[in-house]
Amino acid sequence: MKKLVVLTGAGVSAESGIQTFRDSDGLWEGHDVMQVASPEGWQKNPALVLDFYNQRRKNLLSVKPNKAHKTLAALEAHFEVVIITQNIDNLHELGGSTNVLHLHGELLKIRGVEHPNHIYDSDPQNPDILLGDLCPNGSQLRPHIVWFGEAVPMIEPAIEVVETADLFMVVGTSLVVYPAAGLVEYTPKNTPKFIIDKSVPYVSPQQNLYFYEGKATEMLPQVAEELISKYKN
Ligand code: NAD
Repeated sequence: MKKLVVLTGAGVSAESGIQTFRDSDGLWEGHDVMQVASPEGWQKNPALVLDFYNQRRKNLLSVKPNKAHKTLAALEAHFEVVIITQNIDNLHELGGSTNVLHLHGELLKIRGVEHPNHIYDSDPQNPDILLGDLCPNGSQLRPHIVWFGEAVPMIEPAIEVVETADLFMVVGTSLVVYPAAGLVEYTPKNTPKFIIDKSVPYVSPQQNLYFYEGKATEMLPQVAEELISKYKN
């Protein structure tokens, strides 16, 4: 089976009802991202940050994977699919994808501020994190999310995956957040690259680059058909 690597961003979850940044003037659900997604924001007002992610976690209960997530999952019948997502929601997994690498962390995971390498599942019965809630090692719990300005530990495994892609797809990302945006540059020269977005982002000119402008739920099924007919072996 050919290896299909897919980089996704907030646009793939937009039609499930989760807002993107760029379509909301750089706000995240009404908040300045630096207030709720940076170490500085955390230092200034940790209660606000915890509350923000508690709300996002609650919101996950009311959203469902859409046709784009499900189409990517169905492609596993034809390709070895690896999804690299910038999203912190779990809609790829709920849509049926079995190989998902989360670059920027996951809403349903938590860790201690002083113990970043010990990561836990949040308690489905009691998912909120409050000030004073401690990890087993004794430091304040925080969401397992990569904030702006923090290191992205999953970028190395992501690069390794991209370097071995037979086919590469990008769905619903403005490609402005680094290092994620730089992953396109690691694809092998001859690997066809398919860029799907409502408003296609800039990608440096290179061989085998194909753009599809439109909503993920409409374009992905079309592109999937094309991949199956042209590249399945
Ligand atoms: P972004 O907001 O910068 O860009 C969203 C992209 O999706 C844009 O290019 C836009 O044109 C496109 N888009 C919007 N609706 C679409 C649709 N229906 N179909 C196809 N494309 C559509 O998002 P980003 O590039 O992912 O970067 C933002 C950062 O914000 C990420 O690091 C992520 O961690 C975080 N974030 C995550 C979520 C989530 O988990 N669902 C939501 C918002 C922000």
